[in-house]
Amino acid sequence: MSEPVLTIVVPCYNEEEVLPITLPRLMGLLKGMIGEQLISPKSRLLFVDDGSKDRTWEIIYKETLKNELVKGLKLAVNAGHQNALLAGIFTAKAASDCIISIDADLQDDPSAIPEFIRKYNEGCEVVYGVRKSRESDTWFKRFTAQGFYKLMAKMGVNLVYNHADFRLLGKRAVNELERFREVNMFLRGVVPLIGFKSAEVYYDRCEREAGESKYPLRKMLAFAFDGITSFSITPIRLVLIVGIASSVISILSGISFLFLKFFGETETGWTSLIISIWLIGGLQLIAIGLIGEYIGKIYKESKQRPKFVVDIDMFNLPLNLKNESV
Ligand code: UDP
Ligand code: MG
Repeated sequence: MSEPVLTIVVPCYNEEEVLPITLPRLMGLLKGMIGEQLISPKSRLLFVDDGSKDRTWEIIYKETLKNELVKGLKLAVNAGHQNALLAGIFTAKAASDCIISIDADLQDDPSAIPEFIRKYNEGCEVVYGVRKSRESDTWFKRFTAQGFYKLMAKMGVNLVYNHADFRLLGKRAVNELERFREVNMFLRGVVPLIGFKSAEVYYDRCEREAGESKYPLRKMLAFAFDGITSFSITPIRLVLIVGIASSVISILSGISFLFLKFFGETETGWTSLIISIWLIGGLQLIAIGLIGEYIGKIYKESKQRPKFVVDIDMFNLPLNLKNESV
């Protein structure tokens, strides 16, 4: 088997401070892997400028003129981390056997990349980079991140624990990813849905090499909320459940209030008032929850996700070599 053509996709938003460090680091790594014949000499680095307002594009562009291993892609306006990644992945797809995405700030250790390639060569279509430790993160980031994974699990969203967007996707996985038509793509949730043989590679998460995080608390919360609402209708279902619960409570308490009215002592009008408040409230919540269920269905349909992903097809032979290695 010949060496795979690898493209490393690096989304960059206002990263002028860190790029002069990242560029030579990744270049050295790529050249080393080409030298060791781990990857094809056609492998490339693709820097995606996500509508930066600083000198990010200038740095990328100048490097592409000097260095044929470096390619650039400039988005016209800031599209966000996930979309910048997708732009890079789909641009590189035709010319690559596999694609690795990594953040520009080198928080995800690039020296884990050769291991990704080894796993790919063993037949894995997806390789997840998983953080061994988060010591370099603030306690707040660690705490919120842990809460996020737990909440997602509760909502029925299957995520790889402590994996962010440092991953390898083989060409077949990218082709399947393209069939997920949702506009709001949450890659961490979608990639596990693709399936295929996968592996995890562990690495230590480092500190940002330079510059500041592009994910302030506001964006982090929006990201988490987006992740939940893109994958789960549990929040809507909760409304229905609360509605049913409060209706049941109103009926039960209604019975006991009536009992009090006839056999005990109450203020005039209080019983009917309290029963109607609870009952109407409960019925309203049930109604909203029911509407929500239908909206949930429309929302699922509107995503036009593929109904299945074929791993091995023995009907349409011949099998390709990678499938045979399973
Ligand atoms: N990024 C991007 N577009 C954005 C925000 C961030 O392409 O709108 C990139 C950023 O340049 C970096 C990666 O996404 O390469 C992750 O961002 P960052 O390191 O700021 O996030 P953190 O590691 O703090 O969660
Ligand atoms: Mg970072």
